[in-house]
Amino acid sequence: MIPVQRLPLQPQLADDLARRTEAVRRAGPTTATGRAAWRTAREPKARLRQLLHRMAPGLARCMYCGDNLGTDIDHFEPIARAPLRTFDWHNHLLACAFCNSNRKRDQFPCDPVTGAHLLIDPAREDPADHLQLYLSSGSYQALTPKGRATIEVFALNDRAELVRARRLAFTVIRAMLDEWHTRHTTGDHPGALEIAEALDSLWQADVLRAVLRLTHTPPLARAVLGERAYAAADLLGR
Ligand SMILES: [Zn+2]
Repeated sequence: MIPVQRLPLQPQLADDLARRTEAVRRAGPTTATGRAAWRTAREPKARLRQLLHRMAPGLARCMYCGDNLGTDIDHFEPIARAPLRTFDWHNHLLACAFCNSNRKRDQFPCDPVTGAHLLIDPAREDPADHLQLYLSSGSYQALTPKGRATIEVFALNDRAELVRARRLAFTVIRAMLDEWHTRHTTGDHPGALEIAEALDSLWQADVLRAVLRLTHTPPLARAVLGERAYAAADLLGR
């Protein structure tokens, strides 16, 4: 999981969403009215999905697992809990069908004492404050209760193919950084740009981010990545 930058809504779409929220309020804000209104909102959903695709990591990947194609508009705070947030742009994230329908569903764990929600919202906070990715194993370690709940709800460590994909992505990224370094130092700038663009669009953007963050600790980064990939990561991460 990596942070995503929420894009502003076009005024016309913002007005449309506000009108639809008002209609849910007038109908009596329940799970049923929220869901019914959402089901039939075909046009705004298409436009919201376009915006979310632009915000998403890699090539329109799921904002939670980072692996699958983001197909669904997820309500971060579920409609069942907050029907008046059905059309709230700040409550919309892009998810894959698995994360949305098989894992999260209507779950929204909250701290029993403070009531604060316990899932990471990648559009509002940096997942790295709550999760640490181990590059050698491909698994996440929770740094906070929020990290723990997020790993649990999305099964970030229990989906074997997800963990394996992260581990393999690390091997691929290291090799690409090596290659970028070779092209860069031999003056093949179009070739280096091609690699940099491919890295930017790669699945498992969380692995690339963890690699780039490693350069904050140069001795560790050199040991893990090797000298050339470290130098490349250091230059590309600036
Ligand atoms: Zn997903």
